[in-house]
Amino acid sequence: MNLAQLLVRAARVHPERVAVLLGDQPVLSYAQLAHRAARLAGHLSGTLGLLPGDRVALFMTNHVGYLEVLYAAWWAGLVVVPINAKLHPREVEFILDDSGAAVLFVSDALLPGLRPFLGGLPSLKKVFTPDGPEWSAALADAAMTPIHREPDDLAWLFYTSGTTGRPKGVMQTHRNLYAMTACYFMDVDDVSMDDAIVYAAPMSHGAGIYNFAFVARAARHVVPVSGGFDPAELVALSSSIGRLCMFAAPTMVKRLVEHVAASGAPVEGFKTIVYGGGPMYVEDIRQALTTMGPRFVQIYGQGESPMTISALAREQLADGAHPRWTERIASVGVAQTLVEVRVVAPDGAPVPVGDTGEVIVRGETVMAAYWHNPQATAKTLRDGWLWTGDMGALDADGFLTLKDRSKDVVISGGSNIYPREVEEVLLRHPGVREVSVIGQPDAEWGEVVVAFVVGDGVQAEALDALCLEHIARFKRPKRYHFVGALPKNNYGKVLKTALREMLLNGEPAC
Ligand code: AMP
Repeated sequence: MNLAQLLVRAARVHPERVAVLLGDQPVLSYAQLAHRAARLAGHLSGTLGLLPGDRVALFMTNHVGYLEVLYAAWWAGLVVVPINAKLHPREVEFILDDSGAAVLFVSDALLPGLRPFLGGLPSLKKVFTPDGPEWSAALADAAMTPIHREPDDLAWLFYTSGTTGRPKGVMQTHRNLYAMTACYFMDVDDVSMDDAIVYAAPMSHGAGIYNFAFVARAARHVVPVSGGFDPAELVALSSSIGRLCMFAAPTMVKRLVEHVAASGAPVEGFKTIVYGGGPMYVEDIRQALTTMGPRFVQIYGQGESPMTISALAREQLADGAHPRWTERIASVGVAQTLVEVRVVAPDGAPVPVGDTGEVIVRGETVMAAYWHNPQATAKTLRDGWLWTGDMGALDADGFLTLKDRSKDVVISGGSNIYPREVEEVLLRHPGVREVSVIGQPDAEWGEVVVAFVVGDGVQAEALDALCLEHIARFKRPKRYHFVGALPKNNYGKVLKTALREMLLNGEPAC
């Protein structure tokens, strides 16, 4: 069971079909994509001597070569480590070190910033850039046949930001990702050979792992020329290419819908927009359905069970006549086919219908473990159930509504930001005595990061500069509140709920 077999079959059956496009320009057919993957695999395995199970990291923005690297790695029995291209070089260094990556593929634009951090990585043998001579030379190597992999062999090692400050590597196996793909067909959407997935969100995340359903059908993969999300570009691509499918965070959906509403652009070229990764406000999805019609499907997942916990189907979203439609569109739908979902009390006992508890998940898409982190694994995987850290409630029909996140993660523009990580950076400033970071609801971003700081003569500018030095730009607080003290409970633990209330009631006055 090797994910590379999806590409092998597509290339055999449909060699001439277009596989990869840059904008609306075809770049590679399925035969060419498979051929390049087989040669690159031959280079990684033969010339560089990588062994099955070795790790290949990708620190790349969306690129027409992304799929080639993924499939070459699996072809050679290797494990991919996709890294968020927005991370700070220090964060990337940690991931490369922790995963023991032997090879790194890095975008040209990201390499200069990362280079100073690559010196102390004993496992790293080779660095490739997409348009560099090494990559071209590797493609001249002899092709190999795909290595056999067992279903439980590791395929995808994805780092989530840890609440403890240390990112954790989620181990996804070949079986997990095949199961995720089966759920795409059963619970999200059918895919035809004429469909096109456009990577408007990062290929290192959910958008990228949706590639399998489209390779399985020998459909098209479109990398926007902008490399990411630009509503006008997407509308143009929908007209020129047609049957566009995409994964988008709720903020992206909102911006696309606003663009379509303001420009009156035609929407027929969009087939399916799958949204998830963060909360979607009811008013926003109502507006989206009114403006673009029944083109939406919602999914709820997390790195530990990627894209696959629940789904809210196109038909349910579009069924405005249903008596419980408003509740349903506020929900994240029902459990996907290959997983079971429960809402439980802290002791693991299911809570009554309608009551709130922690969402737990069991099934084929749930990760094997955290990489080299038995403690975190034991905390998160208990008796075969994944404890998501999300609070929710099930209704009598099995629809799940998420209430709050027990982990206090801030989700801004679809990206997760863990307050503790930001707090630790701010506390490096000698003038900062105490700090607490929370998310503030925001119509555009879902949430924005806000920091409460107790300190002596500290300026927001200095804190911003400190963040720029240590963490990704998108994690920086958008606002600072300098306060005399933080609200705390009897045990001295900061009351984040009190901080949130202060923000709701106007500016804080500590
Ligand atoms: P990540 O592991 O980065 O994919 O983040 C996963 C977290 O995002 C989940 O645990 C949820 O808290 C949140 N999330 C994912 N999908 C949804 C959704 N459809 N609605 C609300 N929150 C979501």
